[in-house]
Amino acid sequence: MTIRFGVIGTGAIGREHMRRITQKLLGGEIAAVTDIDLSAARKAVEELGIEARIYPEEELLADRSIDAVIITSWGPAHEASVLAAIAAGKYVFVEKPLATTIEGCERIVQAEEKIGRRMVQVGYMRRYDRGYQALKSVVACGELGSPLMVRCTHRNAAVDERYTTEMAVLDTLVHELDVTRWLVGDDYAEVQAVFPRRTKYAHEALQDPQIFLLRTQTGIVITAEVFVNCRYGYDIQCEIVCEEGTVSLPAEASVEFKHDALHKRAVPQDWKLRFADAYDAELQDFINQVERCNEPQGPSAWDGYLATLAAEACVRAQKSQGWESVTPGISQPKFIAGRV
Ligand code: NAD
Repeated sequence: MTIRFGVIGTGAIGREHMRRITQKLLGGEIAAVTDIDLSAARKAVEELGIEARIYPEEELLADRSIDAVIITSWGPAHEASVLAAIAAGKYVFVEKPLATTIEGCERIVQAEEKIGRRMVQVGYMRRYDRGYQALKSVVACGELGSPLMVRCTHRNAAVDERYTTEMAVLDTLVHELDVTRWLVGDDYAEVQAVFPRRTKYAHEALQDPQIFLLRTQTGIVITAEVFVNCRYGYDIQCEIVCEEGTVSLPAEASVEFKHDALHKRAVPQDWKLRFADAYDAELQDFINQVERCNEPQGPSAWDGYLATLAAEACVRAQKSQGWESVTPGISQPKFIAGRV
């Protein structure tokens, strides 16, 4: 059976996912497309050369021939589309964030809870990256003992004037917030932000770099550096320090140079390339589960909620420069219990 997708939001990543499903992945087709700007939807369909229907979101969600939706609109629009899609009985793949407010995430978790099964997967694709999966299996097998500390680094070569201090959390750190909690199987209790000396390459209103300390409920301490004007490239690192050893993300496969008495290795420049395989894998898994009428297995609405909750605490910590607690206002749905 081919899964018929409706896409809501045909911007950069929406078009990427449409291309993936049409040209790379198995078992899915883009059958309907919408955008707040319908001419953008039309352009995306024409560029890809597919025969998808183009109509407003309400009609797309009412179309019984659509099995699942991919929500790739702007973050503030996610909540309304996810809730409407759940109400229409569609499976949902929503790009991060699940919703931009804690209350919005809670409403989505509760809407799914009413149905009593998972319908939603959130696009925290790092869980599908082979390096992170290898880290997770080493930690889970217990050979290195319990994790004590995690050190994460998230560096981008440069950002433009539209990038704000808060975006360092909401757009950048949020990936570490999701994947680190998943790696160590523990929830956050409190967070703190520390601001080092600013790089001369940051625009006037931007604090860059930033360091975040996160303490989990069992006491694991995570230090996460966000440095978005590092100049040299896109650099993602993660090391987990356990009682009996350490484990780190593998170095990226990239060409090495030996030239002029130097030995050099190329640094990736682009997050899209770095995680291309993970984007493919997350959507292929979503298609496979929907095809079998299974619940989606990737990051859940509950995971999306906890990522937004931790991000909101980090934004508070940016302002207070003190410890801020991460306290869920609702309980974990029973059908998700035990799955981190
Ligand atoms: P974008 O600005 O390129 O595209 C957003 C599109 O949504 C635009 O075409 C806009 O017209 C449309 N839109 C806005 N409001 C809408 C609404 N109410 N209904 C329908 N369409 C609407 O943005 P983008 O870079 O493609 O990002 C989209 C989402 O994907 C964001 O939430 C972003 O955080 C997320 N994202 C995730 C990753 C990742 O690594 N997982 C990477 C990039 C973007």
